[in-house]
Amino acid sequence: MADYGKRDYGRCPCSGQYEQRFVEVRMTVNGKVVVLTDVPQGACPNCGSRVYKAEVLERIESLMKGEKVKRSTA
Ligand SMILES: [Zn+2]
Repeated sequence: MADYGKRDYGRCPCSGQYEQRFVEVRMTVNGKVVVLTDVPQGACPNCGSRVYKAEVLERIESLMKGEKVKRSTA
């Protein structure tokens, strides 16, 4: 995936601090299993809460819709 330099996941509501790690995300898109590796994720070591960055979520959502990412510059 692209270069995600930022690690500012902020704080979890439980007062823990999210830590960046890289995980594997599996999902099923139109009956096909899609595996994303090295997906940056913020994980709270206290309560196990997980967050993704907006651009990562966007990417995942676009994959789930079965769309290729199109960014027209019209
Ligand atoms: Zn937490």
